[in-house]
Amino acid sequence: GQPEIEDVRIAQTAEKRSLRIIAVASGKGGVGKSTVSANLAIALHRRGVRVGLVDADIYGPSQPRLMATEGAKPQAEEKQLVPILSGVGIPMLSMGHLVEPGQAIAWRGPMAASALGQLVDAKWGAVDVLVVDMPPGTGDVQLSMIQKHKPAGVIIVSTPQDLALIDATRAVNLFDQAHVPMIGLVENMAGYICPHCGEVSDPFGSGGAQAAASQMEMPFLGRIPLSIGIRTASDAGMPPAAEDGLDGAPFLAIARKVAD
Ligand code: ADP
Repeated sequence: GQPEIEDVRIAQTAEKRSLRIIAVASGKGGVGKSTVSANLAIALHRRGVRVGLVDADIYGPSQPRLMATEGAKPQAEEKQLVPILSGVGIPMLSMGHLVEPGQAIAWRGPMAASALGQLVDAKWGAVDVLVVDMPPGTGDVQLSMIQKHKPAGVIIVSTPQDLALIDATRAVNLFDQAHVPMIGLVENMAGYICPHCGEVSDPFGSGGAQAAASQMEMPFLGRIPLSIGIRTASDAGMPPAAEDGLDGAPFLAIARKVAD
C-alpha cells in the first residue's frame, strides 16, 4: 500500500544522498578537464576515499582511454548498470562504454539527460564520492546534472589564456546560479616543464587563473604545468597521479585540498 511506496522512496533518496557528486566542468573543450578528472579520482582513491568515476562527456568520452577500459561493456543488473573496475581499482562508467565513438554527438537533450541518469544512478555500491567528468560548456547535461543529481560541489578547469577564462566564467555562473558549492578552480597547462632540464617557463603567462578565482571569490585549487609526461602517461592509460613523481604531484596536492 501507500506507506510502503513512501518507504522505498525515502530509502532511495537516502542512498542517493550518501553518494557525493563532484562535477568537474570547463567552459570549453581541450583544457584538460578529463585529465584532471581521472587524476583527481586516482589521487582521492590513493588517499583512501571510496571514489567512482563517471565520464559524462558525450562529445568526446576519453575516460576509457585514460583508465584503460576501452572496449569494456558494462553489464546491467535489475535495470541498473554495473560499473567497470579500472586497472587502478576505480569503478567507472563512461558514455564511451554505452555508444560507438561519434554516435552520441547527434543526441538531443532528453537522450543525453537520460544517459547521464543511467551513469549516475548505477550500482555504485561502496562508493562515497563520484567524480563526474562533464561535457564542456553549459548545455543539457549540465542542466540535468544540476537539477536532477544535485552535485555536492563543482571544480572548474581552465587554462591560463584569457579566452578559456571567459568561457570558464560562464560555467562558473551556471553552477553558481544553481547554488552548487564551488570547490574551486584548477589552472591546467600553466607553465611548461622542460623535459630536458626541468625548468618551468610560462608561454601563456601565469597567475591569470588565480587572479580570476579570487575575483570570482572562489578557492584556487592549484596549477598543473604543461608536461609531455602528463600527456604520454595519460594516453598510455596510466595517469601520472597513480605514481609518485613530478607529474603526479600537482594532482595529489589538489586531491588533498578537495578531500579536506
Ligand atoms: P578536455 O577534457 O578538457 O577536453 P583533455 O583532458 O582530454 O581535455 O586534454 C586534452 C589533451 O591535452 C589531451 O591530449 C591531454 O593528454 C592533454 N593534456 C591535458 N592536460 C595536460 C597537461 N597538463 N600537460 C600536457 N598535456 C595535457
